[in-house]
Amino acid sequence: MQQQAGSMESKQRTQNPQLEHASSYYAASANPSPLRETLKEDVTTDVCIIGAGYTGLSSALHLLEAGFNVVVLEAARVGWGASGRNGGQIVNSYSRDIDVIEKTVGKEKARLFGEMAFEGGKIIRERVEKYNIECDLKNGGVFAALNAKQMHELEHQKALWERHGNDQLEMLNQNDIRSMVDTERYVGGLLDKSGGHIHPLNLALGEAAAVESLGGNIYEHSA
Ligand SMILES: Cc1cc2nc3c(=O)[nH]c(=O)nc-3n(C[C@H](O)[C@H](O)[C@H](O)COP(=O)(O)OP(=O)(O)OC[C@H]3O[C@@H](n4cnc5c(N)ncnc54)[C@H](O)[C@@H]3O)c2cc1C
Repeated sequence: MQQQAGSMESKQRTQNPQLEHASSYYAASANPSPLRETLKEDVTTDVCIIGAGYTGLSSALHLLEAGFNVVVLEAARVGWGASGRNGGQIVNSYSRDIDVIEKTVGKEKARLFGEMAFEGGKIIRERVEKYNIECDLKNGGVFAALNAKQMHELEHQKALWERHGNDQLEMLNQNDIRSMVDTERYVGGLLDKSGGHIHPLNLALGEAAAVESLGGNIYEHSA
């Protein structure tokens, strides 16, 4: 009886397309992941996290690793928001160039921002390895230049980021970039070996599984 009620309930819960993953290549190629329970009763925990995107799941992992109990409440599904439908790029930079940031906040704070830019990729790689997350992690990212002016700008960017500790950068000439990107449009580029790409939804699903493997509880459809 109880089981029947449960399966009817999950059927009802999945009937609202707004609460399911948006239709995308990533949703279509997602690793299998369970439909988690809706929270219906009072529970006690050290920390309650709202939202099972990268912010919530990563915080949950840090807290669990530090010995706290954690409950994650997700209004829709794990990775339903930006975390399950972004470009999947690991890019070590900000929406402003680091020299622009430096002018605004000063050298010392810019140095901290510079260091922080590399932390995200490092944390992702550590997690993928530690928790065996299958998210098609590929290393390396290319910034392509269409003309000499853009090449010059990339050389400037390389010098800037090297000042902030990135020793993984390499200028690419026309032949180099053609061996990586199958087009004759580019005159060269900049390879960042510390950049990369992941399947964004599978990273979120893998982090959720890691949270549960450490004893954390995740509830879906639980705004
Ligand atoms: C189109 C696009 C492309 C992007 N490309 C990249 C990229 O290539 N590389 C990169 O590093 N970043 C990229 N980003 C940025 C990146 O996706 C976000 O910074 C990141 O996913 C934010 O994670 P989050 O956990 O803070 O938010 P989200 O992933 O949006 O998670 C928030 C979660 O909270 C849930 N929620 C909200 N309210 C409640 C509530 N009341 N109760 C319970 N749950 C709730 C939501 O359902 C959602 O699942 C991109 C973003 C977009 C939109």
